[in-house]
Amino acid sequence: MTADPRAELLAEPTDADRAYWDGLAEGKLRMQQCGACKHWQAVPESFCFACGSDSMEWKDTSGKGTVHTFITVHQKYHPAFYDLIPYNVSVIELDEGPRLTANVVNIAPNDIAIGMRVKAKPAPVGDRVALFFEKE
Ligand SMILES: [Zn+2]
Repeated sequence: MTADPRAELLAEPTDADRAYWDGLAEGKLRMQQCGACKHWQAVPESFCFACGSDSMEWKDTSGKGTVHTFITVHQKYHPAFYDLIPYNVSVIELDEGPRLTANVVNIAPNDIAIGMRVKAKPAPVGDRVALFFEKE
């Protein structure tokens, strides 16, 4: 089996974001939520970006959201993605609020649309699991 060249591009989990990666391995999109003001944040931190509280908790999101915007890549930018051209790079706005950049998979380039409902679909990349979305 050929190794997936994208696997080398995945960040190694750290103590700050291990709950996110563990969630993906369990098929869930996990994110921090502030225990004080309920703000969800996509970037793991020891404090809330909205109110400054340090009562951040890891929780499972719904994994659902909408395509806020996207591009379709036709150019060869990185060898790890050559075989996937054309592919989309999409900004997904989760129902919880945060926006994430990801690929919407299992969809033809002309079928993706702004406002389309999507759901998280964590999937293997090499021996890791990464975040993708698919049409809901
Ligand atoms: Zn807060």
